[in-house]
This record gives sequence, structure tokens and C-alpha cells, in this order.
Amino acid sequence: MLPALRRRSQLYARLHAGVPEDLALRSAADLAALPFTLKDDLRAAQDAASDDQPFGENQAAPQVDIVQAISSSGTTGRPLYYALTARDVEMIGDAVANVWFTAGVRREDIVAHLVGLPMVAGGLPYADGFRRIGATLCWLGGFPTERILREMRHLRVTALLATTSFALHLSEQWDAVGRETGIASRLRKVIGGGEPGLGQPELRRRIVDGLALTHLRETMGLGDVIPSMWGECELEDGMHFNARRYVMLELIDPETGQALPWREGATGEIVYTAFARDATPVIRYRSRDHAAVVAMGCACGRTGPRIRCIGRTDDMLIYKGMNVFPTAIRDLVVKRFAGRIEPMLRLWKARRDQVRFDQPIEVDVEASAALDDSARATLAREIEDVVRSQLQVRIAVTVLERGGLPRGVYKNAIAAVREV
Ligand SMILES: [Zn+2]
Repeated sequence: MLPALRRRSQLYARLHAGVPEDLALRSAADLAALPFTLKDDLRAAQDAASDDQPFGENQAAPQVDIVQAISSSGTTGRPLYYALTARDVEMIGDAVANVWFTAGVRREDIVAHLVGLPMVAGGLPYADGFRRIGATLCWLGGFPTERILREMRHLRVTALLATTSFALHLSEQWDAVGRETGIASRLRKVIGGGEPGLGQPELRRRIVDGLALTHLRETMGLGDVIPSMWGECELEDGMHFNARRYVMLELIDPETGQALPWREGATGEIVYTAFARDATPVIRYRSRDHAAVVAMGCACGRTGPRIRCIGRTDDMLIYKGMNVFPTAIRDLVVKRFAGRIEPMLRLWKARRDQVRFDQPIEVDVEASAALDDSARATLAREIEDVVRSQLQVRIAVTVLERGGLPRGVYKNAIAAVREV
């Protein structure tokens, strides 16, 4: 594969210039002989786009063979485009369908797909996965939220793909929609994707109880590799890797780049090698996703590691020299203050690329219905104290009234940018 790749992709001709032509890869460990591919490498390759090569220097298939372009969400900078040949579309459809099947979607299901943008990794590729299983695809993304909720009742939707925050929003609105339409809910399965958060028991409980679900499954993927690769089985305790037919995995120490063994309790950054991608391939691609290995193997019979995503390198903040993931702040606060606040928070940055904080980090939380207005200021100080003592990070908390935090349909980031 590698010699052919160097001929097909100018990016890999350059990145692998020092790799011996006769290098033999016989095990996953041998991958360490190859350099990593970084997002910046993909960006630079895309910047070299031309009339002949609209996807730039990593366009590894002739333009005439490319049948689809997909785009990154662009939430962390300029969007990247990925090209797919017919074989790539087939491969991605198979892998994504595998994830949805692991997550409990079946032919009998009527699935609401709420991502509004067909071109993003969560758009058409996700839809292809549902159709491939044979489920009834109802692509409601793009309609106003009120209409989405009504259509879901009228279409007797049984399964839904949504962000964690949208699922939470839905759990608050769903009864009212039922009263309005007079149609009982048949929704039993929610697949969460696009943002982490389903590792939190409190959040899970709220969504499962609020919607009377039998399934709540977390999934994860990457447009640069395959838009969905990881999914939870019926144990609902960490995600299985469902793309092993097409992608090799490594776990590395993000500081040193050294490979780490996959074993229970290990944490590290996930690195992907897509060995079956024609048009925009990636070899040893640094995902920037940090995972914790929940277990090796599973009672469901699937083999390999089960993981939770604990954060992204891109999201990591530095408060006076201390590294902290926004998700770590959220998970601590949501757990300790369950019942008094809603299970989410918003963190403010002065600029999109702000990483360092010398002043306390501004954080908004939302009061639960049970919290008395007069208790908000005291609660804010309590939260600040807990975060300082547990994470050695100072935050400045505002407790907003009920409904004060936004609930998005696609890719809600924890961090928001305050225009200054
Ligand atoms: Zn399992």
C-alpha cells in the first residue's frame, strides 16, 4: 500500500520521503516507523489546491473518480474537505452502518436524522449508514426545531441521532409535543454523537428518564478518517471500535508520541491509519481525541478495547500552567451539583484560539427548576471552591436562570467566544 500511496498522494510522497521503499509492516507496532500526519499537514495540502486537483496535494484519486466531497464542521478553523470515490462511499457506509447496528438501530426502526447540513461528516455519510441497515430514514435536520418535534411524533419515530445537548432539550419538550399532537411517543433509542458528555451518569439518567428510553448510546468518529467508527453496545459502558476492517488504531502518549499498550485504565490520544481510503487517505493521523480505556473485550462478545472520549487536545486550556479539559470541569461540576444545576455548562474565551488563562475562567451554569433564585450566588461560590480544590483551576461562575444555556442540534462546543 505504501509505495503506491507515495505515487498517488503528493502529501505522502513528501511526508514519507525518508521511509525505505522496501519497509515491511508486519504488525501494528511496525507503524511506528512512519511519521504522524497532523491536521496542519492536511490543511497545508489543501491550500495547494488547483484546477486539476481541487482537494490539493492529498487528492490521491483522479478527479473523474471522485463522487462526493464532505467537509469538516469548521468549528476549529477553516473547514477541510475530504474526497470520496465510489469505493470510499461504500466503505464508509459499511463502517457507519456497523456503528449504528452496534448502537441498537435495526431494520424496524424509524430514524430521525437531525443534522441539517448534508455536506458535513455527520450529514450524508450518517444517512447512508441508516439506509444500509434498512431502517426508515427521516431526514428532518434543517427544519425549525418546533417542526422537527412535531414531525417526529407524526412519523412515529423510534430512534434518533442527536447531540447530547439536543437530547437533553428534547427530554424537556417532548411531553408538550405529545399533548399538542395527541400522538404517544414511540421513541425508544437515542444515539448521541458530535460532542462528548454521555459518560456522565447524571446526564444519561435525565435523558433516559425524560424520554422513557430503552437505549441511549454514545458514538464517535472523525470526518478525516470515517465519520462514525465507535459505538456503544447494550452494556452502554464505553464505545466499541467498529471499523477494524478499514482502519488501524494506535493509542499514544500525546507528549512523547510513544505508542501505549491498549489495556484497561490506559489513557492517551487515538491515532488512525485508514488503509482502504482511495481519495484522501490518512496514515498515522493524530486525532487529537483523548480516550480512556474502560475495558478490553465485552460481555456482548465484541472484542477489542471499549473507550470513553475524555476530551480533545484542541480544547485543552492552561490556567497558570495547569492543563485542564473543559470536559473535566463540566464532569466534576455536574456530578457534584446534580439536582441543583442542569447537567451542562458554558465556558467563555476572549478569542476562539485562547488557550492560556491568567484570570479565573468565566463559566456559566444553569439553575435547575428546584433551585431557589436566592441560592444562586451562594451556589456559584460553592462551585468555584470545588473546582479550585479538585482541579487546581480558578473559575468565576455565574448561575443563569432556567433555560439560560443554548441547546444545539449539531456540535455544541462547551467553550463559547465572547466578542471583545
Ligand atoms: Zn459490548
